[in-house]
Amino acid sequence: MAIRRRCRSSRCKNGRRCLEHLRFDVMYQGARYRMPVNEFAIPRMEPGKQRPIQSMEEARDWERLFIGEIKAGRDPRRPRVKGKATADKAPASVSEFLDAYVERCVRPAALRSIKSVKSRVDVLKKHLGELPLDVLEEPDEINRFKTDSDYAEDVEIATIHRSLEVLRAAMNWGMAQTPSFFRKSPFHRYGVRMNKKAETMRDRRLTREEEKLLLDTALEKMNAPEHQFVGPLLHDRLIGALELCCRRGEMLLIQNKRVNWDTCQIGIPGATAKDKENRRIPFNPNGRLAAILERRSELGPEAYVFGSATGTYQPNIQTAWETLRLLAHGLEPRSGREGGEWNQGSNCGGLTSAGTT
Ligand SMILES: [Zn+2]
Repeated sequence: MAIRRRCRSSRCKNGRRCLEHLRFDVMYQGARYRMPVNEFAIPRMEPGKQRPIQSMEEARDWERLFIGEIKAGRDPRRPRVKGKATADKAPASVSEFLDAYVERCVRPAALRSIKSVKSRVDVLKKHLGELPLDVLEEPDEINRFKTDSDYAEDVEIATIHRSLEVLRAAMNWGMAQTPSFFRKSPFHRYGVRMNKKAETMRDRRLTREEEKLLLDTALEKMNAPEHQFVGPLLHDRLIGALELCCRRGEMLLIQNKRVNWDTCQIGIPGATAKDKENRRIPFNPNGRLAAILERRSELGPEAYVFGSATGTYQPNIQTAWETLRLLAHGLEPRSGREGGEWNQGSNCGGLTSAGTT
């Protein structure tokens, strides 16, 4: 182990005090490593503070690092590619990983959404940051964050999903690195799932007051000849949408015969084998939806619960819903094309909000 001075007398004027031509000369496990001290040290200095070494003591400090790198299995003579040192190192914790993702993927891409990505990263770091990285390969901790964390209790499921989408994007990036940070992803059917339907279910877009205002308006203002007495129908559809959380098209297809009063469930038509188990929606036998179901049951088993007054099927027409919203907010619906359609006769309500998609 040594630092040698290798000056060429013709070009070096400093003689024994020369620091410019110092070389490391180290034997380790039968291999000899020689390298000019500055060539080793300067690339390892902080960017902006790089300069030739200034003392023999400094050279000895660098020599320890030189030997350390050899003993750690690296060849210090190998040229250092800028940024490669950090790129080589796999992050140890979730926090480090997410920082790496922001620095090396999000920021270089200069996405407009960088601010929102970073705020979601902050949430993820707060709840998962201290965990070792490989924990992310299994769904357990992520699902815990999704359902049991304080955060999950405070925010809508849709908000949780936005954070998980960032995590999924980050992990996809991590899996594309060489070597890959992860062996597998937890985002699959039996792992972490992001159920969009659950979002609409919990993410009520109407407040209680808005809901009441709309229901009252339907019954009071739209149960009139100029609205073809469509009010009660709109009222029922609004409640159906709020209580059933199925797609609007599905809701309109529900016939009385689908209502099972023994189990208090409604079978949603058009169910495919894929999601059959989700397709029976329970209802509260004493709730407001049950009152509607009971009233409509008088029209016979084939009648449509959310159909016309006589129980025939009624497709959606946007206008009735828009009219209701306008009236609820104290505005008169416009005449003209909209009003014209309204008066054509086949109108009935189609909800565009309130939990249907
Ligand atoms: Zn010299």
